[in-house]
Amino acid sequence: MSVFNLNQQNSNLDHKIVAGLERISNVFRILLWDKSKRHQLSPIQIQLLIFINYHSQKLSTVSYLAQEFNLSKPTISDTIKTLEQKGYIKKVPVQDDARSYTIEITDLGKNVIFETENYTDPLSAIVSKSNAADKEILWKTISDMILQLNRMEIITVQRTCYNCKFFSNEKNVPFCGLLGQELKNEDIRIDCGEFCQD
Ligand code: SF4
Repeated sequence: MSVFNLNQQNSNLDHKIVAGLERISNVFRILLWDKSKRHQLSPIQIQLLIFINYHSQKLSTVSYLAQEFNLSKPTISDTIKTLEQKGYIKKVPVQDDARSYTIEITDLGKNVIFETENYTDPLSAIVSKSNAADKEILWKTISDMILQLNRMEIITVQRTCYNCKFFSNEKNVPFCGLLGQELKNEDIRIDCGEFCQD
């Protein structure tokens, strides 16, 4: 059975859904490439700039970025070196550890982020037109799929409620102990700044 075999795909809703997700994943690639060409940056250079800009410095290490983007440490190091040469980031040495550094985005880097991070706009425009009930169902489906892909170790890093030490589900009521509130479907996060596993 193959989702790409048209006879099998078109007679099976599961196959059509997976083929559709594959098509959507290509859209992100196309949109990102378009920005890459305009700004003479590779897609991963843009993705690293955006990630570093919106996450804490402790997540902006070579090791963590390698896990996050499923790339080797040398690839991430090379990408960071190129971004530094282009003047988009600067390495800030960590006190008392000559070999470690954190990464800061420069003003030039912030300009590039501003001009590239909107590559997702066409998708945002479509989602924004859906009604609230459809969005909630879509979000539940997507967040559940991401969780299962994480459990299958295909998506390696997940800062999601389901993996967080503040999350509980007593009597089937999802709850965040940090925020002190029940988590409805739309409240579940897939990338939370307060996520903690320690
Ligand atoms: S801290 Fe964030 S990730 Fe953890 S349960 Fe609360 S909302 Fe979810």
